[in-house]
This record gives sequence, structure tokens and C-alpha cells, in this order.
Amino acid sequence: MENYARFCKPLLTRALVSIGLDKTYHRASGNFLYYKDEQDQEIPVLDLLGGYGATLLGHNSLLIRERIKHYLDEEIPVHNQFSIRKPAAVLAERLNELLKEETATSGDFVFCFTSTGAESMEVALKSVEFTRNAELVALEQEVAQATAKINGESVIALTDEQCQQLQLEEKASAQDIQRALTAFNQSRLDSKPTFLALEHAFHGKMIVTANCTHGTMYRDYLKRLKINTYFLSTEKLSEFVEMGEKANDILNGWLWLPQEENDRIILTKKKFRTVAALLIEPVQGEGGVYPLSAEQVSGVNQLKQIIRCPIIADEVQAGSGRCGFLVASSDVGIHADYYVLSKALGGGYAKIGVVAIRQESFTPGFDLIQSSTFGEDDFSCRVALDYINLLHADQRQLLKQVTQLGEEFKVRLHALKEDYPDIIRDVRGKGLIWGVEFHDVDDSDSYILQNIAVQGSLGYIISGYLLCGSHIRVAPSGSAANVIRMEPSVFLELRDIVRFVDELAKVCLAIRHANAGFIVAPILGKLNQSTPADYRSREVGQQNGSAANYKAAFINHLISADWLREVDPSFSIFSDEELESFVESTSFNLATKPFKPARISSVNGQSVDFTLYPIPVTSKMIKAALAQNDLARLRHEIDVRIAQAVESGNTVVGLGMFTSIITNNGKSVKNNQIGITTGNALTVGIGIEALQRSTSHRDITQMRLAVIGGAGNIGRVYAEILGPQYQEMVLIGSNNQGSVRKLNEVKYHIYQYIYEQFIVNKQPLMGGLAQRIVDCLALMPDDDFISQFNEGKTSIGEAIDHYLVQHYPDQVFIHISQSISDIEHSDVIVCAANASEAFISVDQIKRDAIVCDISVPHNLSDDDLRNRPDIKILRGGIVQTPHHDSLDPRVRAYLGEGQLYACMTETILLALEQHKDNFSYGNISTHQVLDIMAIARKHHFTLSDIKENSSL
Ligand code: PMP
Repeated sequence: MENYARFCKPLLTRALVSIGLDKTYHRASGNFLYYKDEQDQEIPVLDLLGGYGATLLGHNSLLIRERIKHYLDEEIPVHNQFSIRKPAAVLAERLNELLKEETATSGDFVFCFTSTGAESMEVALKSVEFTRNAELVALEQEVAQATAKINGESVIALTDEQCQQLQLEEKASAQDIQRALTAFNQSRLDSKPTFLALEHAFHGKMIVTANCTHGTMYRDYLKRLKINTYFLSTEKLSEFVEMGEKANDILNGWLWLPQEENDRIILTKKKFRTVAALLIEPVQGEGGVYPLSAEQVSGVNQLKQIIRCPIIADEVQAGSGRCGFLVASSDVGIHADYYVLSKALGGGYAKIGVVAIRQESFTPGFDLIQSSTFGEDDFSCRVALDYINLLHADQRQLLKQVTQLGEEFKVRLHALKEDYPDIIRDVRGKGLIWGVEFHDVDDSDSYILQNIAVQGSLGYIISGYLLCGSHIRVAPSGSAANVIRMEPSVFLELRDIVRFVDELAKVCLAIRHANAGFIVAPILGKLNQSTPADYRSREVGQQNGSAANYKAAFINHLISADWLREVDPSFSIFSDEELESFVESTSFNLATKPFKPARISSVNGQSVDFTLYPIPVTSKMIKAALAQNDLARLRHEIDVRIAQAVESGNTVVGLGMFTSIITNNGKSVKNNQIGITTGNALTVGIGIEALQRSTSHRDITQMRLAVIGGAGNIGRVYAEILGPQYQEMVLIGSNNQGSVRKLNEVKYHIYQYIYEQFIVNKQPLMGGLAQRIVDCLALMPDDDFISQFNEGKTSIGEAIDHYLVQHYPDQVFIHISQSISDIEHSDVIVCAANASEAFISVDQIKRDAIVCDISVPHNLSDDDLRNRPDIKILRGGIVQTPHHDSLDPRVRAYLGEGQLYACMTETILLALEQHKDNFSYGNISTHQVLDIMAIARKHHFTLSDIKENSSL
């Protein structure tokens, strides 16, 4: 598998792993493919996918195999290009005979052999353009001759419209007219051909065929190649048919042909074909298994008459017997000019395709320029002939069997739909190609199913369930992820159909019961109960029909995979390891649905609808991405969610948990149409309040405070707000260059603050550092100490520092350090260092200290702390909502009823205040903390609880 991922399909391998389809089959026989499990046991898998339609006879059909052995023993040529190739001729003759009979036509066909479906379609498209080109060359000559007749003596009668189109002056000479006319007509003749195809069409993945394929993922990236395709919905098709000749004017082209009339030359409109072909599949496979409806058939036949273009029937999947006919169009009533076959035509062994072109639509010369190394090879042609003969032997016995077996599918799948009309939207098919379309599950009570819907992976997850749980192989249609497609062999046994439908019924019940766990279990290697338990929520209706005043969005992620049990109760069957494996393997696709909003109200009655936009990755995964500096994908996911939040009318978005760190505190975010906040200001504010509450019974004016990471964004704010209240403070910084300078700046800033607040503004003093400093400064002999020390060179803070150092050398006020051991005698320690892992040893911490570790990842590990129960640990504060409003219980994590995290609260407060700009963005400041605290008080969001868990 590793090499397949490394050298062949890096992303696809991840997708296969995520849905349990990452099997390696070593053997194939009849209706079964075989892989070996971890115990080296051979596991037979019932193959209903059938090589996307290629194995109508099953795998390694004995009926063909004997013939192939014979060809190999006979040493028949394979590469004898540029000679008269008899097996190709014999196959063509037989196909001609059968096609004429089946399509009830008398004329012959010309056959062009290829190797694959897309190649065959590409050849068909080239052939129609070859023919159209021949028509245009003839027309070009006719126009050139007619235009050459214009000369100095010609009387040319032009209408105003013509003059305008040819951009001619009123007095234009015959020569001017001739030149303008030639240029005008040439540009029209040179215009691109149009290929008409139907909605849901799939015609291959080569350049032109991909452009004729409806699914945008196959062609969007090719748009600069500018192939002109027009996709017709059933309504558009009827509209064109109703228009009649007008449709011809719209879809096809015209030019001005000079004609002599009563001694004058006039210009008449000459129509010509720009539509190269109209492409159809009698049963659209890849697009979602849609048999052509009677309305479409009639529309296609009529449109062909109106616009006079050839029809190409793409029978690559539906033909060669899959629908009980050599070409399924014959049964549907489409009279095509081209029939294209491949896939099953090779009997499950050979790679062969063929384009059958009606003699009258074929332009000789195309055969001179079209060839391919493998096209017409003797081996493939002989195998295809054997296959075709087998299908038609005993009065088309096998073809009849296809239809009969198809009936069994039809009856049983329709009965299943009757039982589960709420789960199965439609059952469609013909012969042995069937599709079951599921209703969208984006409204399921299961949040995992909702996300599966958003990721467009329902059909894939069902395929994974069927393979891992029941050893049945199906796959969704590439362009219709809610449709699972079945293309079994004609030798499928009835009991296998019954087994398949029974298993599908379990899936339907699991979906009905909102039980995503039941569907995912086998993919994670877990045995299921026989029937899926019911996890539908008993909640009735919406809590509040009216709209909230404002909307706020919040981006979060999983703390760890085990939280999925809360988010989706059907996942409670899984162990932590299984959940981790689920999150890891499905991280291939990170799309999620926003969680249904929680209504949070202010005390003033205004309300906010608060919506979580989760990213389904764990903190651990984000830490790994951070360590590898591999953040582009996660940042992109954040940007996608912000764009969604803007579109849904949110005015502010909070970057929760690690999303603030990976966006560099919001700075990497690309969107500027919404206010962004990390919520850090209130997180710090509430944390300070929590710390103050924890120390309220002690006299902090006699205590020593240590702030680790004191020069950092958050540590600095803690130091500035708390420092003046303590007896002394140590600011500890890293060994990084510049750290001492930054720590000193914080120190000076605090001294300046104390000076302004307590000396200039004469605020009341409550002891502690502020009191001590004011007292020292009051003892100054000369009141004008600032000018003495400042001398225009230093700030007030620095001046005070110099003064204190000079006059009180034995006292500690604010101590600057780069050594963690300086926390030793501290009573209260704030940890706000930015480190990738815990680095502070509990041994260095004083007995009964209070430690506030708000850093993420933590500076102190939970494990170490367990050995020191005397230390009171604090991880910040939790907010109480004014009206006891809560998040949905499934996403509360550690929160109780009526509680929110501070970062969420800040987001909500900004929405309530209709704050339009970014708030906690990049570094935060002390005044921002004080401002948001004031706003919180205004709306009555208060400190509820002291956070002691590592809840993020
Ligand atoms: N046309 C149709 C209708 C098909 O179903 C397919 C294959 N799914 C193709 C063309 C392309 O065939 P291939 O994959 O052999 O190129």
C-alpha cells in the first residue's frame, strides 16, 4: 500500500483507507475477488462493481479463457500494424451484421478500433469534426468563389444591418466590401465546434471527453483549453425542440454568401453546422445511473432533425450486453449515427473499444489519419469476437439472462425502497446496471452523518460498510456520491442478490436510526450488533422560532478523538484507539457542517445565535502540524469556514483553541469581511479574575508573584494587571536574544503605570508593590526626580527603575530573570510561556503555591502535578451566561449548563456590541483586556468557575 501511495495515487490511497476500501486483491474468479486478511486468510468478496461494467461474464471467465490459451499457444500476432488485419475485419463484419439487425437498418457501418472507452469516444468526436471540417472546407470554397466575383463594376446592395456587421462606411468600395466580407465569413467559419451533451453525462477523462462530461470536477481545470460544450437538461432539451428552426439559429452558425440577383449582388444568410455532435448514453452510468427517459429520447431524436447533427451513442458502459442488447440505444429508440463500445466488449480480458460509424456519416480519409498502436490488435479483436458470439449464442441466451436477472434486481430494490422511502430516494437501472440513490443525510440527528453528507461521501461510506462488514463490493457513481452502483455479472446467483439487499436494508435502518457508528464499525474492524440501535434525538422542533439579533461564529476542533462519543452518541461503541484511528483516517476530507446554533442572550435582552464551525482534527494532530510547520491545509480549512460564516450573516468569528495559534493569532486569516477575534483578551481577563478569586482569602500584598513568559503577549498583560498588587514580582523570560530587553520594557511600563495611577492620579493604594514604590519615591529629596534621572534619555518607568536600583539596592521590586529556578520562592506563578511541551519541574515550586497555567500546550504537565497535590492548579476561568444559556450538550466538552469559555464569550460580546473590526488580533494589550471585561460586566457575563482541567 505504501508504494501505491508513494508512487501511484497519494491522495486516492488516503481516501480508500478512510472508507476501508484499501484492499489488495490477489485473485479473481467468477463473481468474486479475493484478498488476504491480517491472518493471511483468503476472503472472498462478492463483486457487484464488475470492473465498472467490464466483467459481464464475471472475472476470468472460463468460457473465454480456453480460447485465450489457445491464441497464446498458437502465437497469434499482436503487433502487426500496417497490414491487412483479418481478425479486425472478421470482428467488424460480425458487429456490422448484429448492429444492422438490432438497430433495424439496412446500411453498413465502418468500424474504428481502439483500446479504451474514453479513447473510443475521443475518436468518435474527432471523426464528427473531421466530417464537419470537410463540409466547412467545401463551404469555404463556395464562399471564396462567390466573393471573388465582386469587382469594381459590381452593384452591391447591402442592408444597414450588413453594413454594421461588416463595419463598412456608407461609401465603401467593392474592394473594401470584398475584404470585410472575407474576414467576417472566415472568422465565422473558424469558430469552435459545439458538442452537445446531457446533464449527468459521462464520456471519459481525456481532454475533449472530460469537457463533455457533466461533473465539473473533471473539466473545470481544463477550462482554458476552451472546448465548447453545452449541457442540456431535460427542460432545455424540450425548450429547444419547441423552438424548432429557431434552435438551429441559436445552436448553429451562419455567414453572408454573396449572390447575384437582378444585376446586383446581395448577401444572403447561409447556415452551417457548428454543432459537431449530440452525445448521449442510453443509461448514464457514472453520472448516477439514469436511463434515458422517453421524454429525453424523443427530445434527442427531434433535436437531431432540427439541427442536423450526428448523434453519438456512448455505449461504453451500457452496451456490449450490459443492458441485454449489443447497443442499449436500440431498445430505447435512439437512432444514432455513431455507436461506441468498450469495457465488456473485451470479455473481461482484452482492452478494446470500437467506434461504429454509419457508412453515410463516415468521411473517407479519417481512416488514414486515425490509428493507435494497440487499436485493431489481433488478440483483442479475437477475444471480442468470442465474447460477442457468446452473448448471441443459442438465440441470444445470455442477453436474455441479463434481462431476467435485471428484473430480480429491480423487484427487490424497489421493495427495499418501499420499506425505506425516507432513506432511499430512487432506484434506477436497466439490465444489469442498477443504482440506488439515497436521500441526503444532512439533517440526520447524527452529526457524523451530517458531515458525511457535507463531504459527499455517503455512497463511499456505505461501500466501505458493505465491503468490510459483508464482503460485498459496490461503489458510488463518481459524479453522484449518494448513488451506489451495481454492475454484476450475468452469472450472479439469486441468493447473492438476496444477501446484498438484506445488507442494504441494515444500512437503511442504521441511517434511519441516526446510527453512524453502525455503518462505520466494520470499517474500523469492529463487529456490529445484528440490528442498529436507535439514536434518534427525542428533541421536538426548534427551541425558538424567531431570529436572534446577531450572529457569531466560532471555529473549534476536537480536544481529542474520544470527544466524538459526546458529539455523536452512536460512536459510544468505539474505544479511544478506534476513534483516533477514525479521525486520523477520515482527515483526508475535513469538510463539516456548522453545528446548529446556540442562542445566547445578554441581560439587556439582545441575543446572538452562536454557531460552531468545527474542524474534525484533534489537538494532537494540530500539534503535529505545528511541529512540522505544515499549516497550509489547516489555515485553508479555517479560511473556508470563515467564508461560510460570512455568507451565513455572522458579523464576528472567534478562533477557538489551537486555531488562534495556527493563524498567528488571526493574522494569517485572509477574509476581511468579518471581525476576527482569538478571544484572548477576555480569556486573560477572566483568568485574572479566577486567580484573584483563588487568592482572595490570602494577603497578596505580602506575596511573591512569578510570571513565566513575562515578556510574551499574554504574560505581559498578567504582569501589568497583577504585578502592582503583589509584594514583589519576578518576570522570567526565555534565553532568546532580546528577551531581557523585552522584560525590562514590561518592568518600566509597570513602574510608569504605578506612577501615573497612584502619584499623578492619586488613586487609593492597597499595599503591595505599588505602595512600596510610591513610598520610596515619596522619600525623594528633590520632588523633581524625573527630570534629574530622565535627562531626556529615558522613560519615566526607566527613570524610576534607576532610582530604585540606586537607592534601594537590597530590595526586590520587579526582578528580571532568564532562569526558571527563580520561581522558587514564589507564592503565585503564572505560566504563559510559549513552548511546545511542558518544561517546568514541580520540584522547583514552593509548597502550597497557586499556579495559573494558561499556556497551550501547558508549561506544567498534568502528570507531574498529580505528584504535588499541595499545588493549586488553575487553567483559567469559565464564564457564566446571564440567562443560563448553554451550548448544545453534545459540544459542551467540560462546560456545565449556563457556562461558556471566555474566548467564546468574547466572540458573543463583540457581536452584541456590533463591533465590526478585529478585536483580539495579533498581540493583545492590557487596555483591551480591561475594555472587554467592562463589556462583559455590562452584559452580565461573569466568572462562573475556576477552570482546573486541561480543557483548552
Ligand atoms: N463513456 C462512458 C459512458 C463510460 O461509462 C466510461 C467509463 N466509465 C467511459 C466513457 C470511459 O471509459 P474508459 O474508462 O475505458 O476510458
